[in-house]
Amino acid sequence: MFDSLSDKLGGIFDKLKRQGALKESHVNEAMREVRVALLEADVALPVVKDFIASVTKRAVGQEVMKSVSPGQMVVKIVNDHLVEMLGSETVSISLAAAAPVPILMVGLQGSGKTTSAAKIAKRLTEKENKKVMMASLDVYRPAAMEQLKILGEQIGVATLPIIDGQMPVDIAKRAMTAAKLQGFDVVMLDTAGRLHIDQSLMGEVVGVRNAVNPHETLLVVDSLTGQDAVNVAQQFSDQIGITGVVLTRMDGDGRGGAALSMRAVTGQPIKLVGVGEKLEDMEEFHPERVASRILG
Ligand code: GDP
Repeated sequence: MFDSLSDKLGGIFDKLKRQGALKESHVNEAMREVRVALLEADVALPVVKDFIASVTKRAVGQEVMKSVSPGQMVVKIVNDHLVEMLGSETVSISLAAAAPVPILMVGLQGSGKTTSAAKIAKRLTEKENKKVMMASLDVYRPAAMEQLKILGEQIGVATLPIIDGQMPVDIAKRAMTAAKLQGFDVVMLDTAGRLHIDQSLMGEVVGVRNAVNPHETLLVVDSLTGQDAVNVAQQFSDQIGITGVVLTRMDGDGRGGAALSMRAVTGQPIKLVGVGEKLEDMEEFHPERVASRILG
């Protein structure tokens, strides 16, 4: 069993119970433990560095409150800063646009994009009483199109009929037109993923984005991919522009450090988290819960 971060920091500060203000040398020592905790949680290295620098700046010189020990005080400063960086409050998917509202799902293949599209469609249908249509733009993998259709049937959500040979931009436009004519509130567009980012993938997603002007562009990221996820997020964020992140596989044994990395790199909120393979396994993102999971 590992000691919790609070226990470790308690140990560092035990010797200086009555020191008044937090001293730089002790804060630095404490930050070494924080750094290890963040890296163990798979937070990306540059994000860890920035985090440590800003927490150190905030902590050094702070008067220790009478009611708490210096160790508890530092843990509180670290935790508060982490929650703040994770986004402080839950942000849900915005539908504040003229119907049908286009939602674009982007991300690498295997990240959980198609499953997440169906999970979101199910939530919007059941919780917000919206009429949702889903369309797959993955023209390279007929199996992916079929997968979305089957998921749609499972949750009672319409999918755009598949027309062989049509290109992604045309499918997206057809989905928007069909949804408008048939009175749908939301159109979920599931773009093709690749195993790695390449320019043809990005060019294609940009084409679709320009054609439908999505109200939400959600980047789907596997929380277990840790350090690699940062590069992916950076590229999608720079080249496509995203409005939020869906973090999948938070039911795995990872500590969820990717949440902090995603938020820091994209500047956009984590909107939902996937917590299992079933279509009801999706939750809102709660920064405080993830902060305590990251700190261990
Ligand atoms: P895509 O290639 O990005 O569209 O990925 P899929 O949606 O096909 O998902 C790939 C695999 O990950 C499937 O077996 C999903 O059931 C699984 N998956 C997706 N989201 C989650 C999640 O939040 N937790 C778990 N445990 N599995 C997930």
